[in-house]
Parts: sequence; structure tokens; C-alpha cells
Amino acid sequence: MATDKQSAEKEITVEDKLSALYQLQTMVTDIDKIKTLRGELPLEVQDLEDEIAGLETRLQNYQTEIKEYETSVVEQRNKITESTALIERYKSQLDNVRNNREFDNLSKEIEFQGLEIEFSEKKIREANDATGYKKEEIAQLTERLDGRKADLVQKKSELEEIISETKQEEEKLREKAKKLELSIEPRLLTAFKRIRKGARNGLAIVYIQRDACGGCFNKIPPQKQMDIKLRKKIIVCEYCGRIMIDPELAGIEE
Ligand SMILES: [Zn+2]
Repeated sequence: MATDKQSAEKEITVEDKLSALYQLQTMVTDIDKIKTLRGELPLEVQDLEDEIAGLETRLQNYQTEIKEYETSVVEQRNKITESTALIERYKSQLDNVRNNREFDNLSKEIEFQGLEIEFSEKKIREANDATGYKKEEIAQLTERLDGRKADLVQKKSELEEIISETKQEEEKLREKAKKLELSIEPRLLTAFKRIRKGARNGLAIVYIQRDACGGCFNKIPPQKQMDIKLRKKIIVCEYCGRIMIDPELAGIEE
């Protein structure tokens, strides 16, 4: 057996070609996975940063609103003080009225200032209620913001870790793939790359799964399956154009 292999050293069988292509596929699929992994994390980090910025803006707006309510409370208190002083003055004037008309006018003024006080008190209650409500919202928002910030720290470190980890892994895989590519005849390699480019999942060579193409999952006729098992010809799926390989040759246990 060993001598047979040695004598046929220059001759590359279809089986060898299929095996090399499948190995290459495994490597490039791993590179694809790394890219996908990295491709999603920066986006997640960006999304978190945007969300945090949005929450912080909302928090600032709430705090500004609370300040406005507080200012309004001070204004209404001043109005109450003014109205109370006026009422006191009018009441003292009541003792010195000279006629009914003056009495009626002063009574109306006192009544009016009383209504003003009630109105201001209502405004103060409303502002205090609104402040309480906003403070609750601020508490919830702050909690959410803290959670998001913690998520961001986590995601950022994950991303940095993945970048530093996968960089080496990817370089290693690329090197291995490059070396392997040299052992594959250029025409076949070009075909492989072309098929891979056109395939949505990046698979150019697939193994038979449950009598179907492992790429598009269309049923493969028994005769064709037999031919694939024989490993004497390179056979492509008639539906998706992917190269098909016997699961055993691909190292898959059925
Ligand atoms: Zn197919």
C-alpha cells in the first residue's frame, strides 16, 4: 500500500481533490464565522452607545423639567404671599369704610385674592405631583442607564477580546488555506471560489445529507449518489451547482 502510494505520488486522484477542497471549505467557513462574530459585536457596541446617549438626554430633560416645576412653585408661593398681604390690607381697610360701595369693592377684592391663593395652591400641588412622578421616572431611567452602561463595558471587552483572539486564529487559518490552495489545481480552485461566491452560505462543497444536497437540500437521485460515493468524478448538484462529496470522505459520521 505504501509503495503504491509512493509510485503514484505525482498522480492526484479525484478523491484527493475532493478531500482537499473539503478541507479548504472547512478553513474558509471558520474564517467566515470569525468575521460574522466580529461583524455583529461592533454593531451591538454602537447600538448600546446610541441607547445610552438617548437615555442620558432624556435624563437631562427630566432634570430640567423638575427645575422648572421648582421655579414655578417658588413663583406661586410668592404670589400667595402677595395675595395674603393684600387680604390683610383690605381687611384692615374694611374697618374704616365710609359706604356700602366701598365695602362691596373691598369684599370683592378679598374674595378675588382668596381665589388667587386657591389657584396658586392648586398649581403648587400639580407641580409637586409632577415632580414626584418625574423623580420616579428618573429613578427607573437611572437604573436602566446603569444596566446599559454595564452591558457596554461587557460588550466592549468581549469585542476587544475577540479581536485580539481571532486575529491570530484568522491569520493562522488564512496561512493554512493559502498553503492548501497551492496543492489544488488552479482551474478547480477558480471553480470552487466562483461557486462559493454565488452561494448564500459560502459553501462551495457539501456532503450528502439524507439523500439530499447539503447545500440546497434537493433530493439527489440514487444513481448520482452512487457516483458520488465512487469518488471518480467531480459531481455538482444540478440544482445549486455546489460540488458534492461523500460524507465519509468529508469525515462526517452519519
Ligand atoms: Zn444543491
